[in-house]
Amino acid sequence: MTKTILLLPGDGIGPEVVAEAQRVAEAVAPDLVFEEGLVGGIAYDTEGDAISAATLARAKASDAVLLGAVGGPQWAGNPRDKRPEMGLLRLRKELDVFANLRPAYCFAPLVGASSLKPELIEGLDLMFVRELTSGVYFGEPRGIGTDASGERFGYETSRYTASEVARVARVAFEIARGRSGRVASAEKSNVMESGLFWRQEVTALHEAEGEGVELSHILADACAMELVRAPKQFDVILCGNLFGDILSDAAAMLTGSIGMLPSASLGAAGAPGLYEPVHGSAPDIAGQGIANPCATILSLAMALRWSLDMAAQADRLKLAVGRALEQGARTRDLGGEMTTRQMGDAILAAL
Ligand code: NAD
Repeated sequence: MTKTILLLPGDGIGPEVVAEAQRVAEAVAPDLVFEEGLVGGIAYDTEGDAISAATLARAKASDAVLLGAVGGPQWAGNPRDKRPEMGLLRLRKELDVFANLRPAYCFAPLVGASSLKPELIEGLDLMFVRELTSGVYFGEPRGIGTDASGERFGYETSRYTASEVARVARVAFEIARGRSGRVASAEKSNVMESGLFWRQEVTALHEAEGEGVELSHILADACAMELVRAPKQFDVILCGNLFGDILSDAAAMLTGSIGMLPSASLGAAGAPGLYEPVHGSAPDIAGQGIANPCATILSLAMALRWSLDMAAQADRLKLAVGRALEQGARTRDLGGEMTTRQMGDAILAAL
């Protein structure tokens, strides 16, 4: 059956890196059908909204969505609901992508780019599974108020339901089965009720459906320390929204440049996934043709694996990126001189 991928290049360097991902996709999976739409500042300028209802409908009807980046200084003054970022948030919400996958993978030729010692990083390959649509970022009530004595306060609610925990834990278990089978679930069960609840629910799901998965629990603060002390001890790390946000950023940077970091956000089985590089629109280098396209190309590889049923092609693509790096292909962020297009060419040649 033909699979469709909706390209949403967005703003800044987004169109530059998505163009390379499309060239690579055409080579590795020639039967894929591409559609293109607008998101972010360019969608606001053209259609009056950071993402139109029509684009949302096309996203839902596709098999996967590959997004470049949104945002830029020219839209910084927009009212909150017209900000480019709203397009991305609305897309995540409409697709109900509750599981955010962020690999921290070290390509051997880039081991020196890490701030940690090479022996701690060499061979690093871990996967964060972060809950993306609930927890303290969304819990109600929340707000800023003033108490009876006149003192101001700010507060939110950290809340998870059993089904919200179970569905993201199920994704982590499934991913672990395709790897070493190990899952570490990180929370703050020592000081947070929602953390204790998270631990209870993950444990219950493991008892019911955890065959082939070795589950351990770790406090999020200890996880942070272990990630910089000995990151290779982990394989899959499962977290709620807040701790996943922080820990996955820290782990990702262990491997070097922001131009190398892909991500995937998955919803229910069979629903389209959202794939995007971790970096933003990089206004400082936009239009110069020097952005590193690897994060977007590796996001495409994740789409091939998780949404398009093309795991073999995903493997080939990841190997090709590694091969190109081995052969010395480097954009500026990696200490080289290659343009975005030349980096794409090097990966195509390696393919
Ligand atoms: P950024 O990730 O865009 O850039 C940070 C730094 O990394 C810049 O120096 C940039 O040149 C560099 N960089 C980023 N991607 C690169 C690549 N592929 N190759 C080479 N260098 C790269 O973050 P920022 O500057 O804080 O944000 C810029 C804009 O992007 C803002 O409007 C922000 O809101 C938006 N943003 C969007 C997303 C997203 O679309 N998911 C994520 C983060 C930031």
